Amino acid sequence: MSDKKIIIAVDGYSSSGKSSMARALASAIGYRYIDSGAMYRAVTLWAMRHGMVESGNVDVDALVMALPEIRINFRPNPDGTQSTMLNDEDVESEIRRMEVSNNVSQVAVIPEVRHRLVALQQDFGREKGIVMDGRDIGTTVFPDAEMKVFVSASPRTRAERRYKELIDKGVPATFEEVLENVVKRDHIDETREESPLRKADDATVLDNSEMSVGEQNEWLLSLFNSIVNAD
Ligand code: C5P
Repeated sequence: MSDKKIIIAVDGYSSSGKSSMARALASAIGYRYIDSGAMYRAVTLWAMRHGMVESGNVDVDALVMALPEIRINFRPNPDGTQSTMLNDEDVESEIRRMEVSNNVSQVAVIPEVRHRLVALQQDFGREKGIVMDGRDIGTTVFPDAEMKVFVSASPRTRAERRYKELIDKGVPATFEEVLENVVKRDHIDETREESPLRKADDATVLDNSEMSVGEQNEWLLSLFNSIVNAD
């Protein structure tokens, strides 16, 4: 394998399995993995805790003013996983709750929030050797990424996966509310003005509706190998 380090952008719809495959690839090739969605979720959790989100409405001015107080980082755990840190507190489980999922897209439309997080994400990529997943990584965060993948699957397939994941983790949820959340987030993410969810022109599309986890990991690894060994 070539030892040239590259940037890998994995974008796609919510619950498309992109985080699991991005994480698996990073671990197989010894790259750092960054979950950009976790960063939007952490800002959302902070806003909720500070009373800035009321029945889906965000107090944009207050949140924008408070942005300098919100510090987000990732901490590796001894078991190989990593935790999202919000002002030095491990919020990894809390940011996955349905309440956060229900509000995150409304926070992610705020241009000032995006600018701040995109700058942080670009900092993570300075040394390359990174796999980052999200919605706008191949279009806005790293438009020059050497490898770009866009992951897609039907809303029902994605909701089924997400529902199973939540139930396995003991997070209370019904299938109907998960499906509704998936469809609603797709809509907000695709229609927002700032960096909407969109496939980069040079991204390779993966529809994984009919693929097993093993098959998609293999697909991603072979795409990586073909790119790093191309020159
Ligand atoms: O990936 P995940 O589903 O955890 O992301 C949560 C939300 O964060 C998305 O629905 C989207 O609104 C927002 N997001 C974004 N840009 C990214 C990553 C996530 O707007 N790069």
